[in-house]
Order: sequence, then C-alpha cells, then structure tokens
Amino acid sequence: ATKSNGAAQPTPMMAQFFEIRAVNPGYLLFYRMGDFYELFFDDAEIASRALGIALTKRGKHLDQDIPMCGVPVHAAQDYLKKLIALGHRVAVCEQMEDPAEAKKRGSKSVVKRDVVRLVTAGTLTEDDLLDSSANNYLASLSMIQHGDADFAICYTDISTGEMFFTDVSAEQLSDELARIEPTELIVSEQTQRYIEQNNLLPIAFAGQLAVQPSEIFNSEAASDVLKSSFGEDAQGILGQSRIVRSAIAAAITYIQETQKGAKVPLRLPQRAGDKLMQIDAATRMSLELLRTNRGETKGALRATMDKCVTAAGSRLLSSRISAPLCDAAAITERHNMVGDFVGNSLVTSLLRAKLKSTPDIVRGLTRLALGRGGPREMLAIRSAIQVAAELVGEMSALDLPNEGNQRLIEILQSTPTDLAHEISGCLKDEVPLLPRDGGFVREGFDAELDEFRTLATQSRQIIAALQARYADETGIKAIKVKHNNVLGYFVEVPASHGNKLMAEPLNQTFIHRQTLANAVRFNTAELSELQSKITHASDAAQAIELRIFEELRNQILSKTAKLQKLADALAELDVTSALGQLALEQNYCRPKIDNSNAFEIKDGRHPVVEVMLEQAGQTSFVANDCDLSPQGEQKNGALWLITGPNMGGKSTFLRQNALIAIMAQMGSFVPASSAHIGVIDRVFSRVGAADDIAHGRSTFMVEMVETAAILNRATAASLVVLDEIGRGTATFDGLSIAWAAVEALHENTGCRALFATHYHELTALSDRLDRVSNHTMKVREWEGDVVFLHEVANGTADRSYGIQVAKLAGLPTHVVERAQEVLDILEKRETADVAAGVAQLPLFAERRPTPKPKSDDALKKRVDQINPDELTPRMAIDLLYELKKLS
Ligand code: ADP
Repeated sequence: ATKSNGAAQPTPMMAQFFEIRAVNPGYLLFYRMGDFYELFFDDAEIASRALGIALTKRGKHLDQDIPMCGVPVHAAQDYLKKLIALGHRVAVCEQMEDPAEAKKRGSKSVVKRDVVRLVTAGTLTEDDLLDSSANNYLASLSMIQHGDADFAICYTDISTGEMFFTDVSAEQLSDELARIEPTELIVSEQTQRYIEQNNLLPIAFAGQLAVQPSEIFNSEAASDVLKSSFGEDAQGILGQSRIVRSAIAAAITYIQETQKGAKVPLRLPQRAGDKLMQIDAATRMSLELLRTNRGETKGALRATMDKCVTAAGSRLLSSRISAPLCDAAAITERHNMVGDFVGNSLVTSLLRAKLKSTPDIVRGLTRLALGRGGPREMLAIRSAIQVAAELVGEMSALDLPNEGNQRLIEILQSTPTDLAHEISGCLKDEVPLLPRDGGFVREGFDAELDEFRTLATQSRQIIAALQARYADETGIKAIKVKHNNVLGYFVEVPASHGNKLMAEPLNQTFIHRQTLANAVRFNTAELSELQSKITHASDAAQAIELRIFEELRNQILSKTAKLQKLADALAELDVTSALGQLALEQNYCRPKIDNSNAFEIKDGRHPVVEVMLEQAGQTSFVANDCDLSPQGEQKNGALWLITGPNMGGKSTFLRQNALIAIMAQMGSFVPASSAHIGVIDRVFSRVGAADDIAHGRSTFMVEMVETAAILNRATAASLVVLDEIGRGTATFDGLSIAWAAVEALHENTGCRALFATHYHELTALSDRLDRVSNHTMKVREWEGDVVFLHEVANGTADRSYGIQVAKLAGLPTHVVERAQEVLDILEKRETADVAAGVAQLPLFAERRPTPKPKSDDALKKRVDQINPDELTPRMAIDLLYELKKLS
C-alpha cells in the first residue's frame, strides 16, 4: 500500500503498542484494554488459532485492517495455560494508571501501559498453571569449550524458590537433563548450536529452549549478580567454577527479566547431590519411572509408590525417584527414617491424617513475594504453622528413635508460632482471594478501620430509613430508595407519581435524574451526602486494609527462610511416613545396602504389575529370586541369561529387579522378602526398544546406539538389564552382536547383568564364561497348550513355544498347524538347508484346497482393509482376536 494522507501514521495507541511490541520480541503481547487482554497482528492470528477464539479486526494500519482477538481478564489464566502448554511465551502488558488520569492530560493521551511480567513455561507461579505434584524447573546451561565441552546446569523452581546446580561433561549432559526435565532451558546461541550439532539433548526432550544473548552468561558480571542476590551468603557460590557461576547468574538474570522487578524468594543454590545414581533417558523411559511409555502418570512407578498426602510431599517423592542416591550411609539413613514409621503403624496413620491438612506453603510464599498472593495464602501459612505445632505433639508421643526424624521434629518445634498468632489476630477466618476485594481484616484489629466501617454501615442504615420518611413527606407509598452502579443511591417512584415530585414544592428536595418507561428517578441532597460519606469511608477502609495487608505480608516475608525450612521438613515427613505406609500396605522389606557388589533379591516382585494384578482381582504375582552377587572368590557380579517363551514374564522379571534397585537407593523399602544390594552407580535398562521414528532411526539402529552407550559407559558397579538385543536384524547378525555384547559385559565391564534372549545358542556361553549362568521362565504344557508359571528356574528353555503362544493369540488353526510342520522340518535340518527343506514341503494352500472356511469372504474383506503400517502391537493383537472370530 502507498502511504497516503496520514493513513500510515499510527494512532497514539497503536504507536504505544508498537513500541512495547518492539522490546518484547518472541512474546505474544497481551495488551490490556479495560476488561480484556487484546492481541494484534500476527499475535492475534497465532493466538486465535491456538485458543480457538474469534479473529476480528480493529482499525487500520497502513491502510490494512488490523487483525485482533481478545480474552477477558477474568478468564486469562486458562488461556495463558493453553498457550504456554503449546510452547508460546506471553508478555502481559497492563494499564499502569486509571484511564481517567490519561483523559485529564488531553483527549489524545493514551493510558500508560507497561509489561509487568513475561510468562514462560519455566517461570510459572500460579497453582492453576502448575502441576502440584511435580516441580517446574527452569534450567540454564552454560558451556566452556576446550576441545571437548564442559557444562554447568543451574535449575530452579521459582514457584518454590529451590535452586540447584551441577556440572557435567558433554557425555553426561543428556542424562542430567533427562533427570531434571526442565520445562524451559536457557542457552546462549553458541551453546544451542553446539548441543544441537552434537545431539546432546535427551530423547523426547520436551523443554522449551530460551535462547538468550551471551552477555547474560558472562562470568565476570556473574559475581555482581550473585552478590546482589544473595549478599553475604553468596560467598560459597563465588568459590564455584566459572561456568557454575555463569549458569546461576544467567538463571537469576532471566528470572529478573521475566518478573520485571518483582523479587522471587530464591534460596541459596545447592549443589545437586554429588553421588546420584546415573539413569539415562532411555532407561527412565523403559522403566516408566514417572510416566508410562504412553506419557501417562497412572501406571508408572511414581503413581504406584505415591502415598503422600501433600502436594509438596509428592514433589519431593518425584525428585527422589528421579535421583536415587549412591552413598550407602545416606541411603541407609533414609531407610532408618522410614523404618521408624513401619514399626508404628497406628501412629503413622494418625500422624498422616493430620499432615493431610497442611497446605502447600512454599508456592504461596513465592506468590506473596511477587505480589500475586492474597489473604488466602496468608491463612494457609498460618494453618501450616499450627499443624506443625500439633505434629510435634503427635511425634513426641511416638517412638521415633531415628536421628533424622528427631531432626525433623526439631525443625517443626522451631516454627514461628508467633507469626501464626499474628495472622490469626489480623485476618478473618473467611477471606477473599484478592487483597483489593477487602473485608478480610478482623473487627477489633484496627480502631480506625472499624470506625470507617461503622460509618459506612451507619450511613447505609440511615439511607434505608430514609425511604419511610420520604413516603411520609410525599404521601407516595410506592416511593423506593435504590442503588445501582451508575447513579449510586437514588429515589424511584412509579411514572404516575413523577410529576408530583417535579412540581413545587417537592422539586426543591427531589432533583430529577432519569425518566424510564414506568418509573422516574430522583436524587436528594441528603442521599448525595450520605453516598459520599459511604464512598469516602469505604475508600478509606480499603486503603487501611491494603496497608495492613502490606505490613502483614512484610512480616511473613521476613520469615521466608524459616517458613521454607518448615515446608521442607513437612514434605520430608510426608514422604518418609508415606514410604512407611507403602511398605506396610504392600509388605515391602528393608533392603540392606553396602559397598559390595551384591545383588541378592529374595521373592522379588514387580511393584506396579503386582498392584495391577491385585486390582484386577487376577492371580497373584509370582515372586522370584534374583542373585547376581559375586560367588566364592570372585569380586564381580554375575550375568544371568534368561530364555523362555514370549509372555513368559521375562521383561517383567528384568524390570522388577532394576526397579527394586532404584527404589532401594532412593530410600524406600522394596517389594521382596529380603534384599541385599551393593550400591549401584548406574542402571541401564533396555527392554523392548521401539522405533525412534521422530529421529529417523530404525529399531536396529536405535538398539545399536544404545547398546554402544551401555558398553562404553557401564562400570563394574553398574546394573545392566537388556532384553533381546539384536532382534532387529537377520538372525546371524543379531546373534553375533548379542554374543559379543555378553562377552564384553562379562570380560571388560564386569557388571551385574540380566540378559533376556530368544537366541538359545547364547546359552552355550555359560560353559565358557564363569560368571554367566542360564535361567528360564517355567512353563507347563497341558493338552498341547502352554501355561505360563512366571517362575524363574535354573537352566535353559527346552523350546521356545512360539507356536503355542501364536495359537493362544488366536492365529487361525490351519496356520498354526502349518507352522508346526515347518518347525519340525527346520529342527531336523542344518540351517543352510532350511529353504530347501521347506521348499520340499507341499504348501498348505495346495494341500488343503477344500473346504473353504465359511466366513472366508468376511475375513478377506477385513484383511483387505488392514494397513499394517498403521497398527500398534496392541491393535494387532486385538485385530487377531477379531479375525479369529470371523474365521
Ligand atoms: P515376556 O517378556 O517374557 O514376553 P512379560 O514380562 O511381558 O513376558 O509378561 C507377560 C505378562 O505376564 C505380563 O503382562 C504379566 O501380566 C504376566 N506376568 C509376568 N510376570 C509375572 C509374575 N511374576 N507373576 C504373575 N504374572 C506375571
């Protein structure tokens, strides 16, 4: 469009919009206009599509319509949540003055506006926007390159104020990120390039990358940032390496930038436990620690173990499951704490009933600090303090000899009870959400406030009484004193009486305001005066309430550190007693942990499958032993080769042992009758690899990449659990690779390992490698069918029972019979002759031309509809059942 007679000149409001837009690139701008946040131009198009709301237009710019959409302020939270979940970032721009102020400056003046907050996935603080049982981490990643790259990660949950740091090599980076699962990752452009080129992000990484200017990672400037954030306490962090300092400072700078000056109560950054069990992204997925492979929380280890009664407890449990320990003493200490509760079942349940009523105070504290909290957050803090005091009573009556539990009691004892009194004295028991809603300060707390409140109430009473007097004076019975937001208080009479009031002498008292179809409205001097008294009194009361709120807020915030400590202790108490409860309910045992290479599990069970079978009311879970401990003079652990038919329970057995190790080292009791585990430094689990289609890698390629990772990284203290490697390729290739992998694990790594395989040839390895032994899932044959006993026995499966399993799955009888024939031939011949041997057999199509199955047509039709590429294994099985019915 050509510029013509001023059309290119944006309106003052649009000029303001452009200015604000320009300094917030990459954000959807929520531009406040009265009761709406409006979005313009591209933002409007993106948001209307993402939110499914109408796209309209408002005015013109450069002769073009301006696309626009809007969301009401009161519902903004829901829209924000949606946009953030879809990976957008939002800049919230508010009106910074009353529009009346702007009008005073002249008709062309625009209301002052400013961005008050940048909303991103990693900087959320509202309960509605957060998952209460998971931390929401914002991570920043700094890098130093000297040939190889080294990294430091600082991760922080601003909703709770927790802050951690760790430094890692390039090799460990993706494992660490998989553990932390940040929802947002701050990087410089250079770092972004490096990690993308070198494929260092974990598989299925769901965090948002926030690419920031490299200045915020400047380690020189970092010291100032750290000093100004943590004052004297910064000393310890200033002694950390350059990249650690730079990662922490970058996180702080980014947080300040997004919060626009509001100060987040960040805690002093802690080094993430030095000795954590390493679990890579693929192992986390394979073991379904926090989520199942389908991304659901239900059915994952976390959900099964979670008996916590508070949100903060659930969050702590999640982070413990994600980061089991490697320090035998620290692990045993956690077991001892849990043990106290297991031994006191009755008191445990009483205590937990009490704990249940503690609100989530850390997140409330952050909101108060950021000016987003209200009186309800304050009441929550009060009740947390009160519950803590009551818990101390309960716990002192309990026999909790353990030092850790004593430490918790001490923290609970030192809660700021005076603060609770303060809050109780100040706030009513029922309070509104927002301070500006008013009416939350208790009567009797502030004399001046009470006075204004009485004044307002009295005036309202006088107004109510006026109606009777006016009726007397005018002789109009139907006269009413009413109130609305436009006129305030007014007198109303039916239309028929209007003239009487508008005539002498009553028109001296009643001043006409409005004539409606059937009523006429008037004002009086008395009403106006009372009205302004009420307004003045209410305004004054509100101002006093806000002042009191501010004072109380400051008082609470001055106790932030203490309250955070209290919240931590409550969360720890919740997790510890919840693990006690779990152990009691599920009959878990206390594992013995030391620095040996032992791995001896008696009657182990799969924690999740066991519960699933229980709930389904099916046969109970069959417990199995697993002993990988070094034998006799040996130092290294053993390697079990496990054969057995599909569906025999191999993967369940493999997974359950890896899970038992993780549960034990995160501090829980375990599903077994006894367990002795020498600390495991890394767990690797590859059970049922899936195609990594998103990265364009076939099953075989994925499997080889992962096998390589294991062989390169496992140590003598690791636990490796591998299911059927080499499956994705031709028989001999696969067998050779599996063979070589077992040899390498045995000879070079010397780790404890479980290796399930369908290559029976592998079992020959047990003769040559002294720490390899053969085990098999027992089955029983019964009238030609197989019955799975789910029992692990010594020895080798004599057969694979593949054909029986296929029959169980519903493969048509004639196919099963034919398969049996082929198998018989194959088993008699040398493999090289297979094709020849099979070729000599008459094909079943020729052999049984009649009779045709009666439902052949329906069957064929259904088969024609099938597109194998679209089927998941689950659908395939369902389909088999369906086809079976048709045949
Ligand atoms: P595989 O890996 O040998 O094919 P799975 O481990 O997948 O077999 O087990 C198949 C099914 O058998 C599981 O879904 C589970 O329901 C059942 N199962 C496995 N192990 C046990 C057990 N120890 N006790 C009871 N049921 C089991």
